[in-house]
Amino acid sequence: MSLLGRIFTMSLLIAGCAIGLTAWLASQATTGSIRQEQGDALATDAALYDELLGYAAKNNSWHDVKSTVDKLAKQTGRRIALTTPDRRPLADSGDASSPQLPVTPKAQVDPLNVNLVLKPGDRGDIDERAVGPFRLTELEHQKLRTVADRLALCDPMYKVVEAPNGHPRAEHGGARFDGDCTFGNSLLVPTDTERAASTELIGLLRGCVDRLPNRVKDDLEWARPESIDWYRTARPQEPEVAACLASARREQLRPYVAPPALLFLTTPTGDEPRPVDLSTAGVTRIALTALGILALAGFASWLTATQLVRPIRALTAATKQMGDGDRTVRVEAGSGELGELASGFNAMSERLAETERQRQALVSDVAHELRTPLGNITGWLEATQDGVARADPALIAMLLEESLLLQRLVDDLRDLAHADAGTLRLHPEPIDLAGVVAQVVAAHQSRDLTLTADTTPTHLTADPVRLRQAIGNLVANAVRYTPSGGTVTVRAFPDGGSAVVEVADTGAGIAAEDLPHVFDRFWRADKSRSRATGGSGLGLAITRHLVEAHGGSVSVSSEPGSGSTFRVTLPNYLSVPRKPKAPKRDGRLPS
Ligand code: ADP
Repeated sequence: MSLLGRIFTMSLLIAGCAIGLTAWLASQATTGSIRQEQGDALATDAALYDELLGYAAKNNSWHDVKSTVDKLAKQTGRRIALTTPDRRPLADSGDASSPQLPVTPKAQVDPLNVNLVLKPGDRGDIDERAVGPFRLTELEHQKLRTVADRLALCDPMYKVVEAPNGHPRAEHGGARFDGDCTFGNSLLVPTDTERAASTELIGLLRGCVDRLPNRVKDDLEWARPESIDWYRTARPQEPEVAACLASARREQLRPYVAPPALLFLTTPTGDEPRPVDLSTAGVTRIALTALGILALAGFASWLTATQLVRPIRALTAATKQMGDGDRTVRVEAGSGELGELASGFNAMSERLAETERQRQALVSDVAHELRTPLGNITGWLEATQDGVARADPALIAMLLEESLLLQRLVDDLRDLAHADAGTLRLHPEPIDLAGVVAQVVAAHQSRDLTLTADTTPTHLTADPVRLRQAIGNLVANAVRYTPSGGTVTVRAFPDGGSAVVEVADTGAGIAAEDLPHVFDRFWRADKSRSRATGGSGLGLAITRHLVEAHGGSVSVSSEPGSGSTFRVTLPNYLSVPRKPKAPKRDGRLPS
Protein backbone atom coordinates (compact mmCIF):
# COMPACT_ATOMS: atom_id res chain seq x y z
CA MET A 1 0.00 0.00 0.00
CA SER A 2 1.30 3.49 -0.78
CA LEU A 3 2.39 5.85 2.01
CA LEU A 4 -0.56 8.09 1.20
CA GLY A 5 -2.96 5.16 1.48
CA ARG A 6 -1.40 4.03 4.74
CA ILE A 7 -1.50 7.47 6.36
CA PHE A 8 -5.08 7.97 5.17
CA THR A 9 -6.30 4.54 6.35
CA MET A 10 -4.51 4.92 9.66
CA SER A 11 -5.98 8.37 10.40
CA LEU A 12 -9.42 7.17 9.33
CA LEU A 13 -9.16 4.13 11.57
CA ILE A 14 -8.07 6.21 14.57
CA ALA A 15 -10.79 8.81 13.94
CA GLY A 16 -13.41 6.05 13.51
CA CYS A 17 -12.41 4.33 16.76
CA ALA A 18 -12.36 7.63 18.68
CA ILE A 19 -15.74 8.75 17.36
CA GLY A 20 -17.35 5.33 17.86
CA LEU A 21 -16.05 5.06 21.41
CA THR A 22 -17.12 8.61 22.28
CA ALA A 23 -20.60 8.04 20.83
CA TRP A 24 -20.95 4.77 22.72
CA LEU A 25 -19.81 6.36 26.00
CA ALA A 26 -22.12 9.34 25.49
CA SER A 27 -25.14 7.12 24.77
CA GLN A 28 -24.33 4.93 27.77
CA ALA A 29 -24.01 7.91 30.09
CA THR A 30 -27.18 9.51 28.70
CA THR A 31 -29.21 6.31 28.99
CA GLY A 32 -27.93 5.83 32.53
CA SER A 33 -28.88 9.32 33.65
CA ILE A 34 -32.27 9.09 31.90
CA ARG A 35 -32.98 5.82 33.67
CA GLN A 36 -31.99 7.32 37.00
CA GLU A 37 -34.13 10.40 36.38
CA GLN A 38 -37.10 8.29 35.37
CA GLY A 39 -36.53 6.02 38.38
CA ASP A 40 -36.48 9.06 40.70
CA ALA A 41 -39.70 10.41 39.18
CA LEU A 42 -41.36 7.01 39.46
CA ALA A 43 -40.31 6.71 43.13
CA THR A 44 -41.82 10.14 43.89
CA ASP A 45 -45.04 9.22 42.09
CA ALA A 46 -45.24 5.92 43.99
CA ALA A 47 -44.70 7.65 47.35
CA LEU A 48 -47.47 10.20 46.58
CA TYR A 49 -49.81 7.43 45.47
CA ASP A 50 -49.14 5.45 48.66
CA GLU A 51 -49.83 8.47 50.89
CA LEU A 52 -53.16 9.16 49.20
CA LEU A 53 -54.01 5.46 49.22
CA GLY A 54 -53.47 5.43 53.02
CA TYR A 55 -55.75 8.46 53.33
CA ALA A 56 -58.48 6.72 51.31
CA ALA A 57 -58.14 3.51 53.37
CA LYS A 58 -58.65 5.34 56.64
CA ASN A 59 -61.36 7.85 55.58
CA ASN A 60 -64.74 7.15 54.04
CA SER A 61 -64.69 10.35 51.96
CA TRP A 62 -62.25 12.80 50.30
CA HIS A 63 -63.70 15.84 52.10
CA ASP A 64 -60.65 16.79 54.12
CA VAL A 65 -57.97 15.65 51.67
CA LYS A 66 -57.09 19.20 50.47
CA SER A 67 -54.61 19.86 53.30
CA THR A 68 -52.87 16.51 52.68
CA VAL A 69 -52.66 17.22 48.93
CA ASP A 70 -51.20 20.71 49.52
CA LYS A 71 -48.66 19.34 51.98
CA LEU A 72 -47.53 16.61 49.56
CA ALA A 73 -47.39 19.08 46.64
CA LYS A 74 -45.14 21.37 48.68
CA GLN A 75 -42.86 18.48 49.62
CA THR A 76 -42.44 17.13 46.08
CA GLY A 77 -42.78 20.31 44.01
CA ARG A 78 -45.44 18.69 41.87
CA ARG A 79 -49.02 19.64 41.16
CA ILE A 80 -51.38 17.03 42.65
CA ALA A 81 -55.03 16.84 41.67
CA LEU A 82 -57.78 14.37 42.60
CA THR A 83 -61.09 14.08 40.75
CA THR A 84 -64.03 11.71 40.77
CA PRO A 85 -64.07 9.13 37.95
CA ASP A 86 -66.38 11.52 36.04
CA ARG A 87 -63.73 14.22 36.54
CA ARG A 88 -65.40 16.39 39.13
CA PRO A 89 -62.60 17.99 41.17
CA LEU A 90 -62.07 16.70 44.70
CA ALA A 91 -58.82 18.47 45.56
CA ASP A 92 -56.13 20.31 43.55
CA SER A 93 -52.84 21.78 44.75
CA GLY A 94 -52.89 24.13 41.76
CA ASP A 95 -55.00 27.29 41.58
CA ALA A 96 -57.25 28.96 39.05
CA SER A 97 -54.25 30.01 36.94
CA SER A 98 -53.00 26.43 36.68
CA PRO A 99 -53.35 24.80 33.28
CA GLN A 100 -55.94 22.17 32.51
CA LEU A 101 -55.36 18.66 33.76
CA PRO A 102 -54.04 16.13 31.26
CA VAL A 103 -56.39 13.66 29.58
CA THR A 104 -54.84 10.57 31.14
CA PRO A 105 -54.65 10.34 34.94
CA LYS A 106 -51.55 8.97 36.59
CA ALA A 107 -53.57 6.34 38.46
CA GLN A 108 -56.88 5.57 40.15
CA VAL A 109 -56.69 5.82 43.93
CA ASP A 110 -58.81 3.01 45.37
CA PRO A 111 -57.66 1.12 48.49
CA LEU A 112 -59.77 -1.85 47.40
CA ASN A 113 -57.99 -2.07 44.00
CA VAL A 114 -54.32 -1.26 44.56
CA ASN A 115 -52.30 -0.32 41.46
CA LEU A 116 -49.59 -2.98 41.49
CA VAL A 117 -47.33 -0.92 39.19
CA LEU A 118 -47.12 1.96 41.67
CA LYS A 119 -47.16 -0.31 44.72
CA PRO A 120 -45.59 -3.55 43.57
CA GLY A 121 -44.73 -4.82 47.08
CA ASP A 122 -48.38 -5.15 48.10
CA ARG A 123 -49.39 -8.73 48.74
CA GLY A 124 -53.06 -8.34 47.84
CA ASP A 125 -55.10 -5.96 45.76
CA ILE A 126 -56.77 -4.51 48.90
CA ASP A 127 -54.67 -2.04 50.85
CA GLU A 128 -53.77 -3.39 54.30
CA ARG A 129 -54.72 -0.10 55.90
CA ALA A 130 -58.39 -0.61 54.86
CA VAL A 131 -59.72 -2.39 57.98
CA GLY A 132 -63.34 -1.19 58.13
CA PRO A 133 -65.42 -3.01 60.79
CA PHE A 134 -62.33 -4.93 61.95
CA ARG A 135 -60.98 -1.83 63.73
CA LEU A 136 -60.85 -2.49 67.47
CA THR A 137 -62.76 -0.29 69.88
CA GLU A 138 -60.66 1.94 72.08
CA LEU A 139 -61.38 -0.29 75.08
CA GLU A 140 -60.36 -3.51 73.30
CA HIS A 141 -57.25 -1.82 72.06
CA GLN A 142 -56.29 -0.60 75.55
CA LYS A 143 -56.78 -4.06 77.04
CA LEU A 144 -54.70 -5.86 74.43
CA ARG A 145 -52.07 -3.17 74.53
CA THR A 146 -51.60 -3.72 78.26
CA VAL A 147 -51.19 -7.48 77.66
CA ALA A 148 -48.70 -6.79 74.87
CA ASP A 149 -46.63 -4.47 77.05
CA ARG A 150 -46.55 -7.10 79.83
CA LEU A 151 -45.50 -9.69 77.28
CA ALA A 152 -42.58 -7.55 76.16
CA LEU A 153 -41.48 -7.27 79.78
CA CYS A 154 -42.03 -11.02 80.39
CA ASP A 155 -39.73 -12.05 77.61
CA PRO A 156 -37.82 -9.45 75.53
CA MET A 157 -37.65 -12.06 72.77
CA TYR A 158 -41.27 -11.26 71.86
CA LYS A 159 -41.45 -8.31 69.54
CA VAL A 160 -44.92 -6.82 69.79
CA VAL A 161 -46.33 -5.15 66.66
CA GLU A 162 -49.77 -3.77 65.97
CA ALA A 163 -51.92 -4.93 63.05
CA PRO A 164 -53.52 -2.12 60.96
CA ASN A 165 -56.81 -2.62 62.83
CA GLY A 166 -55.04 -1.94 66.17
CA HIS A 167 -54.75 -5.58 67.31
CA PRO A 168 -51.33 -6.06 68.92
CA ARG A 169 -49.62 -9.36 68.36
CA ALA A 170 -46.20 -10.82 69.09
CA GLU A 171 -44.00 -12.06 66.28
CA HIS A 172 -43.18 -15.52 67.56
CA GLY A 173 -43.93 -17.85 64.66
CA GLY A 174 -47.57 -18.62 65.55
CA ALA A 175 -46.87 -21.00 68.48
CA ARG A 176 -48.76 -20.46 71.68
CA PHE A 177 -47.04 -18.67 74.53
CA ASP A 178 -45.79 -20.87 77.40
CA GLY A 179 -43.96 -20.71 80.75
CA ASP A 180 -44.50 -17.46 82.65
CA CYS A 181 -45.85 -15.76 79.56
CA THR A 182 -48.96 -17.92 78.93
CA PHE A 183 -51.12 -14.83 79.59
CA GLY A 184 -49.92 -13.68 76.14
CA ASN A 185 -52.27 -16.25 74.56
CA SER A 186 -55.11 -13.81 75.11
CA LEU A 187 -53.55 -11.77 72.26
CA LEU A 188 -54.30 -14.64 69.87
CA VAL A 189 -58.03 -14.58 70.59
CA PRO A 190 -60.13 -12.38 68.24
CA THR A 191 -61.95 -9.54 69.98
CA ASP A 192 -65.71 -9.16 69.88
CA THR A 193 -65.40 -6.52 67.17
CA GLU A 194 -63.26 -8.78 65.01
CA ARG A 195 -65.57 -11.72 65.55
CA ALA A 196 -68.60 -9.67 64.62
CA ALA A 197 -66.84 -8.39 61.51
CA SER A 198 -65.79 -11.88 60.41
CA THR A 199 -69.36 -13.18 61.00
CA GLU A 200 -70.57 -10.40 58.75
CA LEU A 201 -67.92 -11.29 56.16
CA ILE A 202 -68.89 -15.00 56.24
CA GLY A 203 -72.49 -13.96 55.62
CA LEU A 204 -71.50 -11.97 52.57
CA LEU A 205 -69.19 -14.79 51.41
CA ARG A 206 -71.93 -17.37 51.78
CA GLY A 207 -74.26 -15.28 49.61
CA CYS A 208 -71.66 -15.46 46.86
CA VAL A 209 -70.52 -19.07 47.33
CA ASP A 210 -74.09 -20.37 47.43
CA ARG A 211 -74.66 -18.94 43.98
CA LEU A 212 -71.76 -20.98 42.59
CA PRO A 213 -72.95 -24.00 40.56
CA ASN A 214 -72.00 -27.60 41.64
CA ARG A 215 -70.76 -26.37 44.95
CA VAL A 216 -70.44 -28.90 47.85
CA LYS A 217 -72.02 -27.61 51.02
CA ASP A 218 -69.40 -25.66 53.04
CA ASP A 219 -69.94 -24.15 56.53
CA LEU A 220 -67.29 -21.55 55.56
CA GLU A 221 -65.87 -21.71 59.10
CA TRP A 222 -62.38 -21.58 57.49
CA ALA A 223 -63.20 -17.96 56.77
CA ARG A 224 -63.43 -17.20 60.49
CA PRO A 225 -59.90 -16.04 61.09
CA GLU A 226 -58.05 -15.21 64.24
CA SER A 227 -57.01 -11.81 62.97
CA ILE A 228 -57.64 -9.57 60.01
CA ASP A 229 -54.14 -10.29 58.65
CA TRP A 230 -55.37 -13.68 57.64
CA TYR A 231 -57.56 -12.24 54.87
CA ARG A 232 -54.64 -10.57 53.25
CA THR A 233 -52.81 -13.84 52.86
CA ALA A 234 -55.75 -16.24 52.49
CA ARG A 235 -55.90 -17.84 49.05
CA PRO A 236 -58.70 -20.44 48.84
CA GLN A 237 -57.79 -23.17 46.38
CA GLU A 238 -60.79 -22.80 44.10
CA PRO A 239 -60.46 -19.56 42.12
CA GLU A 240 -64.25 -19.00 42.22
CA VAL A 241 -64.19 -19.10 46.02
CA ALA A 242 -61.15 -16.79 46.07
CA ALA A 243 -63.06 -14.35 43.84
CA CYS A 244 -66.04 -14.59 46.20
CA LEU A 245 -63.83 -13.84 49.21
CA ALA A 246 -62.32 -10.80 47.46
CA SER A 247 -65.70 -9.42 46.41
CA ALA A 248 -67.17 -10.10 49.88
CA ARG A 249 -64.28 -8.19 51.46
CA ARG A 250 -64.71 -5.28 49.04
CA GLU A 251 -68.45 -5.23 49.72
CA GLN A 252 -67.82 -5.24 53.46
CA LEU A 253 -65.11 -2.53 53.38
CA ARG A 254 -66.61 -0.24 50.72
CA PRO A 255 -68.64 1.93 53.16
CA TYR A 256 -65.55 2.51 55.29
CA VAL A 257 -63.15 3.74 52.61
CA ALA A 258 -63.12 6.75 50.30
CA PRO A 259 -64.66 6.18 46.85
CA PRO A 260 -62.25 5.66 43.92
CA ALA A 261 -60.66 8.91 42.67
CA LEU A 262 -58.47 9.81 39.69
CA LEU A 263 -55.00 11.07 40.53
CA PHE A 264 -53.22 13.61 38.30
CA LEU A 265 -49.54 14.36 38.81
CA THR A 266 -48.02 17.15 36.69
CA THR A 267 -45.42 19.87 36.97
CA PRO A 268 -46.77 23.16 38.38
CA THR A 269 -46.54 24.68 34.86
CA GLY A 270 -48.42 21.77 33.39
CA ASP A 271 -45.61 20.52 31.11
CA GLU A 272 -45.24 16.85 31.53
CA PRO A 273 -41.51 16.02 31.57
CA ARG A 274 -40.91 14.66 28.11
CA PRO A 275 -39.80 11.08 28.35
CA VAL A 276 -36.31 11.10 26.91
CA ASP A 277 -35.00 7.85 25.63
CA LEU A 278 -32.53 6.63 23.09
CA SER A 279 -35.15 5.67 20.57
CA THR A 280 -34.29 4.45 17.09
CA ALA A 281 -34.43 8.09 15.97
CA GLY A 282 -31.95 9.04 18.71
CA VAL A 283 -29.58 6.25 17.81
CA THR A 284 -29.87 7.15 14.12
CA ARG A 285 -29.10 10.77 14.97
CA ILE A 286 -25.97 9.76 16.91
CA ALA A 287 -24.91 7.41 14.11
CA LEU A 288 -25.44 10.09 11.44
CA THR A 289 -23.50 12.69 13.46
CA ALA A 290 -20.68 10.18 13.98
CA LEU A 291 -20.66 9.44 10.25
CA GLY A 292 -20.57 13.17 9.47
CA ILE A 293 -17.62 13.71 11.81
CA LEU A 294 -15.94 10.66 10.30
CA ALA A 295 -16.39 12.11 6.82
CA LEU A 296 -14.90 15.43 8.01
CA ALA A 297 -12.00 13.60 9.68
CA GLY A 298 -11.50 11.60 6.49
CA PHE A 299 -11.39 14.78 4.39
CA ALA A 300 -8.91 16.41 6.81
CA SER A 301 -6.74 13.26 6.83
CA TRP A 302 -6.80 13.16 3.04
CA LEU A 303 -5.68 16.81 2.83
CA THR A 304 -2.90 16.28 5.41
CA ALA A 305 -1.74 13.05 3.83
CA THR A 306 -1.65 14.61 0.34
CA GLN A 307 0.34 17.60 1.59
CA LEU A 308 2.74 15.28 3.41
CA VAL A 309 3.24 12.99 0.47
CA ARG A 310 3.71 15.67 -2.22
CA PRO A 311 7.32 16.64 -1.26
CA ILE A 312 8.17 12.95 -0.77
CA ARG A 313 6.96 12.23 -4.30
CA ALA A 314 9.00 15.18 -5.63
CA LEU A 315 12.07 13.81 -3.82
CA THR A 316 11.48 10.33 -5.21
CA ALA A 317 11.23 11.68 -8.77
CA ALA A 318 14.39 13.78 -8.27
CA THR A 319 16.29 10.78 -6.87
CA LYS A 320 15.31 8.69 -9.90
CA GLN A 321 16.41 11.51 -12.21
CA MET A 322 19.74 11.69 -10.38
CA GLY A 323 20.08 7.92 -10.62
CA ASP A 324 19.70 8.33 -14.39
CA GLY A 325 22.74 10.62 -14.38
CA ASP A 326 21.18 14.09 -14.16
CA ARG A 327 23.35 16.02 -11.67
CA THR A 328 21.53 19.33 -12.14
CA VAL A 329 18.26 18.17 -10.55
CA ARG A 330 17.11 20.16 -7.49
CA VAL A 331 13.92 20.05 -5.42
CA GLU A 332 11.98 22.85 -3.76
CA ALA A 333 13.07 23.01 -0.11
CA GLY A 334 10.27 24.10 2.23
CA SER A 335 10.34 24.17 6.04
CA GLY A 336 10.18 21.39 8.63
CA GLU A 337 11.67 17.91 8.50
CA LEU A 338 10.80 17.32 4.86
CA GLY A 339 12.25 20.74 4.00
CA GLU A 340 15.50 19.70 5.68
CA LEU A 341 15.46 16.45 3.76
CA ALA A 342 15.02 18.40 0.51
CA SER A 343 17.89 20.79 1.45
CA GLY A 344 20.07 17.76 2.23
CA PHE A 345 19.19 16.27 -1.13
CA ASN A 346 20.05 19.54 -2.92
CA ALA A 347 23.39 19.76 -1.07
CA MET A 348 24.16 16.16 -2.01
CA SER A 349 23.23 16.83 -5.61
CA GLU A 350 25.47 19.93 -5.75
CA ARG A 351 28.33 18.00 -4.16
CA LEU A 352 27.94 15.20 -6.66
CA ALA A 353 27.95 17.69 -9.53
CA GLU A 354 31.12 19.32 -8.15
CA THR A 355 32.82 15.95 -7.67
CA GLU A 356 31.88 15.00 -11.21
CA ARG A 357 33.31 18.27 -12.51
CA GLN A 358 36.55 17.72 -10.56
CA ARG A 359 36.78 14.16 -11.84
CA GLN A 360 36.43 15.31 -15.44
CA ALA A 361 38.99 18.09 -14.89
CA LEU A 362 41.40 15.61 -13.30
CA VAL A 363 41.12 13.15 -16.17
CA SER A 364 41.66 15.90 -18.68
CA ASP A 365 44.65 17.32 -16.72
CA VAL A 366 46.22 13.90 -16.31
CA ALA A 367 45.85 13.21 -20.02
CA HIS A 368 47.35 16.59 -20.76
CA GLU A 369 50.30 16.04 -18.41
CA LEU A 370 51.02 12.61 -19.82
CA ARG A 371 50.84 13.71 -23.42
CA THR A 372 54.00 15.94 -23.42
CA PRO A 373 56.57 13.48 -22.03
CA LEU A 374 54.98 10.58 -23.89
CA GLY A 375 54.99 12.59 -27.13
CA ASN A 376 58.66 13.42 -26.60
CA ILE A 377 59.60 9.79 -25.94
CA THR A 378 57.57 8.50 -28.89
CA GLY A 379 58.87 11.20 -31.27
CA TRP A 380 62.55 10.60 -30.43
CA LEU A 381 62.19 6.81 -30.58
CA GLU A 382 60.52 7.04 -34.02
CA ALA A 383 63.26 9.40 -35.21
CA THR A 384 65.92 6.93 -34.04
CA GLN A 385 64.06 4.05 -35.72
CA ASP A 386 63.91 6.00 -38.97
CA GLY A 387 67.62 6.75 -38.69
CA VAL A 388 67.02 10.51 -38.42
CA ALA A 389 68.50 10.65 -34.90
CA ARG A 390 71.17 8.60 -33.26
CA ALA A 391 70.71 6.84 -29.97
CA ASP A 392 73.67 8.56 -28.39
CA PRO A 393 74.09 8.88 -24.57
CA ALA A 394 72.64 12.40 -24.63
CA LEU A 395 69.42 11.21 -26.26
CA ILE A 396 69.14 8.25 -23.91
CA ALA A 397 69.66 10.57 -20.92
CA MET A 398 66.91 12.86 -22.20
CA LEU A 399 64.50 9.93 -22.75
CA LEU A 400 65.29 8.67 -19.24
CA GLU A 401 64.52 12.07 -17.78
CA GLU A 402 61.15 12.11 -19.59
CA SER A 403 60.24 8.66 -18.28
CA LEU A 404 61.30 9.72 -14.75
CA LEU A 405 58.93 12.66 -15.12
CA LEU A 406 56.18 10.22 -16.04
CA GLN A 407 57.11 8.06 -13.06
CA ARG A 408 56.92 11.04 -10.67
CA LEU A 409 53.57 12.06 -12.08
CA VAL A 410 52.17 8.56 -11.59
CA ASP A 411 53.57 8.45 -8.00
CA ASP A 412 51.98 11.82 -7.21
CA LEU A 413 48.65 10.71 -8.61
CA ARG A 414 48.77 7.52 -6.51
CA ASP A 415 49.48 9.58 -3.34
CA LEU A 416 46.55 11.86 -4.09
CA ALA A 417 44.29 8.89 -4.77
CA HIS A 418 45.30 7.45 -1.37
CA ALA A 419 44.64 10.80 0.30
CA ASP A 420 41.22 11.03 -1.36
CA ALA A 421 40.30 7.50 -0.34
CA GLY A 422 41.52 8.09 3.23
CA THR A 423 44.03 5.25 2.89
CA LEU A 424 47.13 7.38 3.21
CA ARG A 425 48.87 5.38 5.90
CA LEU A 426 51.23 7.09 8.37
CA HIS A 427 53.87 5.48 10.56
CA PRO A 428 54.38 8.05 13.32
CA GLU A 429 57.34 7.93 15.66
CA PRO A 430 59.14 10.48 17.87
CA ILE A 431 61.42 12.54 15.66
CA ASP A 432 63.41 15.76 15.68
CA LEU A 433 62.18 18.08 12.96
CA ALA A 434 65.67 19.66 12.72
CA GLY A 435 67.06 16.33 11.47
CA VAL A 436 64.38 15.99 8.78
CA VAL A 437 65.04 19.56 7.59
CA ALA A 438 68.79 18.90 7.47
CA GLN A 439 68.23 15.84 5.24
CA VAL A 440 65.95 17.75 2.85
CA VAL A 441 68.34 20.70 2.59
CA ALA A 442 71.22 18.36 1.88
CA ALA A 443 69.26 16.66 -0.91
CA HIS A 444 68.36 19.92 -2.72
CA GLN A 445 71.70 21.75 -2.63
CA SER A 446 72.32 23.74 -5.78
CA ARG A 447 75.32 25.67 -7.02
CA ASP A 448 73.16 28.55 -8.32
CA LEU A 449 71.68 29.73 -5.02
CA THR A 450 72.20 29.63 -1.28
CA LEU A 451 70.10 26.98 0.49
CA THR A 452 70.48 27.01 4.29
CA ALA A 453 68.85 25.36 7.28
CA ASP A 454 68.22 27.37 10.45
CA THR A 455 66.81 25.00 13.05
CA THR A 456 66.37 24.50 16.78
CA PRO A 457 65.63 21.01 18.18
CA THR A 458 61.91 20.45 17.64
CA HIS A 459 60.56 17.15 18.86
CA LEU A 460 57.24 15.70 17.78
CA THR A 461 55.57 12.46 16.80
CA ALA A 462 55.22 12.19 13.01
CA ASP A 463 55.92 10.00 9.98
CA PRO A 464 59.50 11.08 8.98
CA VAL A 465 59.24 9.75 5.39
CA ARG A 466 56.00 11.64 4.67
CA LEU A 467 57.34 14.79 6.38
CA ARG A 468 60.48 14.65 4.21
CA GLN A 469 58.22 14.37 1.16
CA ALA A 470 56.08 17.34 2.21
CA ILE A 471 58.99 19.63 3.15
CA GLY A 472 60.93 18.37 0.09
CA ASN A 473 58.12 19.57 -2.22
CA LEU A 474 58.26 23.05 -0.64
CA VAL A 475 62.06 23.25 -0.86
CA ALA A 476 62.05 21.94 -4.46
CA ASN A 477 59.55 24.66 -5.42
CA ALA A 478 61.58 27.34 -3.65
CA VAL A 479 64.73 26.25 -5.49
CA ARG A 480 62.82 25.99 -8.78
CA TYR A 481 61.19 29.40 -8.61
CA THR A 482 64.20 31.34 -7.23
CA PRO A 483 66.58 32.70 -9.83
CA SER A 484 70.36 32.24 -9.64
CA GLY A 485 72.01 34.08 -6.79
CA GLY A 486 68.90 33.95 -4.65
CA THR A 487 68.54 32.56 -1.15
CA VAL A 488 66.34 29.80 0.26
CA THR A 489 66.13 29.44 4.05
CA VAL A 490 64.45 26.52 5.80
CA ARG A 491 63.66 27.09 9.46
CA ALA A 492 62.35 24.60 12.03
CA PHE A 493 61.35 25.69 15.53
CA PRO A 494 58.79 24.97 18.23
CA ASP A 495 55.98 27.53 18.60
CA GLY A 496 53.81 27.10 21.69
CA GLY A 497 52.31 23.62 21.40
CA SER A 498 53.20 23.28 17.72
CA ALA A 499 56.17 22.51 15.56
CA VAL A 500 56.76 24.91 12.67
CA VAL A 501 58.71 24.61 9.43
CA GLU A 502 59.13 27.70 7.27
CA VAL A 503 60.55 27.67 3.72
CA ALA A 504 61.37 31.22 2.65
CA ASP A 505 62.83 32.18 -0.71
CA THR A 506 63.84 35.36 -2.50
CA GLY A 507 62.23 34.30 -5.79
CA ALA A 508 59.63 35.94 -7.99
CA GLY A 509 56.86 35.51 -5.46
CA ILE A 510 53.21 34.77 -6.20
CA ALA A 511 50.59 37.31 -7.27
CA ALA A 512 47.96 38.05 -4.65
CA GLU A 513 45.13 36.75 -6.90
CA ASP A 514 47.00 33.45 -7.38
CA LEU A 515 47.59 32.76 -3.69
CA PRO A 516 44.22 31.03 -3.07
CA HIS A 517 44.92 28.56 -5.92
CA VAL A 518 48.48 27.44 -5.25
CA PHE A 519 47.34 24.33 -3.34
CA ASP A 520 44.84 23.26 -6.06
CA ARG A 521 45.63 20.22 -8.17
CA PHE A 522 47.30 20.90 -11.52
CA TRP A 523 47.35 24.62 -10.85
CA ARG A 524 50.37 26.55 -11.97
CA ALA A 525 51.02 30.25 -12.22
CA ASP A 526 52.89 29.58 -15.42
CA LYS A 527 50.38 27.83 -17.65
CA SER A 528 52.98 27.18 -20.36
CA ARG A 529 54.42 24.18 -18.47
CA SER A 530 57.86 25.11 -19.65
CA ARG A 531 60.59 22.66 -19.17
CA ALA A 532 62.48 25.18 -17.04
CA THR A 533 59.98 25.00 -14.21
CA GLY A 534 58.96 21.44 -15.04
CA GLY A 535 56.46 20.83 -12.26
CA SER A 536 53.19 18.96 -12.75
CA GLY A 537 51.12 21.18 -10.45
CA LEU A 538 50.52 18.40 -7.93
CA GLY A 539 53.36 19.06 -5.46
CA LEU A 540 51.59 21.58 -3.19
CA ALA A 541 48.31 19.61 -3.28
CA ILE A 542 50.18 16.53 -2.02
CA THR A 543 52.02 18.58 0.62
CA ARG A 544 48.75 19.93 1.97
CA HIS A 545 47.26 16.41 2.16
CA LEU A 546 50.33 15.05 3.98
CA VAL A 547 50.37 17.92 6.49
CA GLU A 548 46.62 17.63 7.11
CA ALA A 549 47.00 13.86 7.60
CA HIS A 550 49.28 14.80 10.52
CA GLY A 551 46.58 17.12 11.88
CA GLY A 552 48.52 20.22 10.81
CA SER A 553 48.07 23.04 8.28
CA VAL A 554 50.07 24.77 5.58
CA SER A 555 49.86 28.40 4.50
CA VAL A 556 51.66 30.78 2.19
CA SER A 557 52.49 34.45 2.22
CA SER A 558 54.17 36.12 -0.69
CA GLU A 559 55.41 39.47 -1.87
CA PRO A 560 55.62 39.50 -5.69
CA GLY A 561 59.16 40.41 -6.68
CA SER A 562 60.73 39.74 -3.29
CA GLY A 563 59.87 36.10 -2.48
CA SER A 564 57.46 33.70 -0.83
CA THR A 565 57.28 31.95 2.56
CA PHE A 566 55.47 28.62 3.04
CA ARG A 567 54.69 27.79 6.65
CA VAL A 568 53.83 24.29 7.91
CA THR A 569 52.38 24.05 11.43
CA LEU A 570 52.24 20.61 13.03
CA PRO A 571 50.61 19.80 16.36
CA ASN A 572 51.70 17.13 18.81
CA TYR A 573 54.94 18.86 19.67
CA LEU A 574 56.77 16.93 22.37
CA SER A 575 58.44 19.48 24.63
CA VAL A 576 60.54 16.85 26.46
CA PRO A 577 63.31 15.78 24.07
CA ARG A 578 63.41 12.02 23.64
CA LYS A 579 66.65 10.16 23.32
CA PRO A 580 67.12 9.82 19.52
CA LYS A 581 67.47 6.31 18.13
CA ALA A 582 70.92 5.29 16.94
CA PRO A 583 71.27 5.95 13.19
CA LYS A 584 71.37 2.91 10.92
CA ARG A 585 74.55 2.01 9.13
CA ASP A 586 73.60 3.85 5.90
CA GLY A 587 73.38 7.07 7.95
CA ARG A 588 69.61 7.52 7.52
CA LEU A 589 67.31 7.96 10.48
CA PRO A 590 65.09 4.94 11.10
CA SER A 591 61.74 5.31 9.37
P1 ADP B 1 54.60 22.61 -9.63
O1 ADP B 1 54.92 21.22 -9.80
O2 ADP B 1 54.13 23.30 -10.82
O3 ADP B 1 55.59 23.36 -8.84
P2 ADP B 1 53.15 22.89 -7.28
O4 ADP B 1 51.82 22.39 -6.83
O5 ADP B 1 54.28 22.50 -6.46
O6 ADP B 1 53.33 22.52 -8.76
O7 ADP B 1 53.07 24.47 -7.32
C1 ADP B 1 51.96 25.07 -7.96
C2 ADP B 1 52.32 26.43 -8.48
O8 ADP B 1 52.54 27.33 -7.40
C3 ADP B 1 53.60 26.46 -9.24
O9 ADP B 1 53.37 26.13 -10.59
C4 ADP B 1 54.03 27.87 -9.08
O10 ADP B 1 53.41 28.69 -10.05
C5 ADP B 1 53.53 28.26 -7.73
N1 ADP B 1 54.62 28.17 -6.71
C6 ADP B 1 54.82 27.14 -5.88
N2 ADP B 1 55.87 27.41 -5.07
C7 ADP B 1 56.34 28.64 -5.41
C8 ADP B 1 57.39 29.48 -4.95
N3 ADP B 1 58.19 29.10 -3.94
N4 ADP B 1 57.55 30.70 -5.54
C9 ADP B 1 56.73 31.08 -6.53
N5 ADP B 1 55.71 30.33 -7.02
C10 ADP B 1 55.52 29.12 -6.47
